[in-house]
Amino acid sequence: MTLAETTLPTAAPQVRQTKMLIDGQWRDSVSGKTFETINPATKQVIAEVAEGDEKDIDLAVKAARKAFETKSPWRRMDARDRGRLLTRLADLVEENIEELAALETLDNGKPIRDAMAADLPLVIDCFRYYAGWADKDHGKTIPIRGNNFCYTRHEPVGVAGQIIPWNFPLLMAAWKWAPALATGCTVVMKPAEQTPLTCLRLGELAQEAGFPDGVINIVPGFGESAGAPLVRHGGVDKIAFTGEHRTAQIIMREAAETLKRLTFELGGKSPNVVFADADLDAAVEGAYFGLFFNQGQCCCAGSRLFVEEAAHDEFVEKLTAKAKDRKVGDPFDPETEQGPQVDEAQYDKILSYITKGKDEGAQLLAGGDAGDDSGYFVQPTIFDGVDDDMSIARDEIFGPVMSILKFKDTDEVIRRGNDTFYGLAAAVWSRDIGKAHRLAAELRAGTVWVNCYDVFDAAAPFGGFKKSGQGRELGEYGLRNYTEIKTVTVNLDG
Ligand code: ADP
Repeated sequence: MTLAETTLPTAAPQVRQTKMLIDGQWRDSVSGKTFETINPATKQVIAEVAEGDEKDIDLAVKAARKAFETKSPWRRMDARDRGRLLTRLADLVEENIEELAALETLDNGKPIRDAMAADLPLVIDCFRYYAGWADKDHGKTIPIRGNNFCYTRHEPVGVAGQIIPWNFPLLMAAWKWAPALATGCTVVMKPAEQTPLTCLRLGELAQEAGFPDGVINIVPGFGESAGAPLVRHGGVDKIAFTGEHRTAQIIMREAAETLKRLTFELGGKSPNVVFADADLDAAVEGAYFGLFFNQGQCCCAGSRLFVEEAAHDEFVEKLTAKAKDRKVGDPFDPETEQGPQVDEAQYDKILSYITKGKDEGAQLLAGGDAGDDSGYFVQPTIFDGVDDDMSIARDEIFGPVMSILKFKDTDEVIRRGNDTFYGLAAAVWSRDIGKAHRLAAELRAGTVWVNCYDVFDAAAPFGGFKKSGQGRELGEYGLRNYTEIKTVTVNLDG
C-alpha cells in the first residue's frame, strides 16, 4: 500500500504484541508482572503488557552489547546494508500504515485523521531519510603539522538506551531508532508506560525487515523501575531521552556515575508572536493548530500567544470562534479534531491549570471545563488577558489550554518571549521580512517558525535551548548523538 491508497480506519485493530523484545525473542518479564494499558477515550483496559524491571533491562543491555561486538553480524554489515534494512522497515510501516495508525489512536487517543496524516508519514520519512545517511556519514582527512597523515572516523557510540514519551509514541521511536541504527549502534528502548503498543508492533516489523537479533530491544515498563536501571546500567553508552525537564535532571544525576553521553528533548512554553501586519487569517489558523494539535500535548505547543494590541480584538474573535467549533470526541470518528488526553494524571493536571487560570484572573473566552466523562476529554480552552507571571503563562500545561498575552512593540515582545527557562520553539507572524528575521535571531529557541507552525521534516534539526534540551534530533546533526569521533594519526616518516 502507498500513502495515496490509504483509507481512514474507523475501528480499533487487533493487538498483536504485548511482550518484550530481547535478543530477537518475544518474552514475558522475568518477574512475570504485567501492567494495563488504557484506552483514554473509554477508560477501558486494552491489554496487559509485560512489565520490565532491572532484570529485564540487564538482559536487554547484554543482548544489545553482544550485538554490538566486533564479530556480530551487525558490526560486520556494510553501512549500505544497514541503510537497506532501514528502507525495508520504512516500507513495512507504509504497508501496515492503517493498522499502526489505528493502534496509535487506540492507545494514545489521538484522532485517527491526525495519526494517518501526520504521525505515520513522518515515521516513514524518518526511516527513509536516515537510511540514506547510513553510508554517507564519513570522516575527514586533516592536514596537521609534520609528516603525518591524520584522518577521522565516525564510529557508533555503542549501546544506546532510549526513553520516550507518550505524545507521539511511534514517531518518537522512529526519531530515536533511525539515526542510532544508521550509525551502527544497537538500542534498548523503553516506551512510555501509557502507550507501549505501537513500539512493540514496530519491533515485530523490524524483525520482519531483517534486523539481526539483539540490535533492537524493547522493554516496556515504568520510569523508576525500568527507565532508571537503563540509565544506571554500565553496559549502556548513551541515553537519549524525551520527556519532562525534571526527569532529565534525575537522569543526569543518575548517569553521572558512568558518565554516559546524554541527549535530551524536553518541554517548552513556546512564544507564538502575531504582529498586526501579519496575514491574520493565516495567523489564526497557525495559532489554533500550533496549540490545539494533538490535544495540546506537544512539547513545542505555541502556548504563549502574544498578539499585538492593534490586531488583538479581531484576531481573538476569529480564534475563539474556531475553538468553540472544534469537534471533540471519539478519535476513530473521521470528523473528530480532538480526542481525549492520554490519561487521568494529565487530565487532572490540565483541569487544575484551568482552575488556576480562572482563579488568577485571566478571562475565559472558550471552554474551561472537562468534556464528556466517558473518556479523558477536555474542552478546547482559551484564556485572554493573561499576565506573564500567571501560572498558565509560565508552566507547561500539555493540554488544550491557550493563553493570550497582548504586546505593544517589538523589543517588548522579544524580552517577554525570552522570559522563560524553556527554549524549544517559537513562531512569528508578520509580513515585514526584517522584523521576522530579527525575531528569528533574537528568540532563544531551537526552532523558530516564520508564518507557519509545527512544520517538521526528518531533515530539519529539532531540539531545545536552555531547559528544553541538549543536542538536536533529526537531520545531519541528529547523527552526532550516536557517533564518537576517532582521530587516527599515522606517522609517514620512513
Ligand atoms: P511525562 O510526564 O510526560 O510522562 P516523563 O518525563 O515522566 O514525562 O516521562 C517520559 C519517559 O520517561 C517515560 O517513558 C517515563 O517512563 C520515563 N521516566 C520517568 N521517570 C524516569 C526516571 N526516573 N528514569 C528514567 N526514565 C524515566
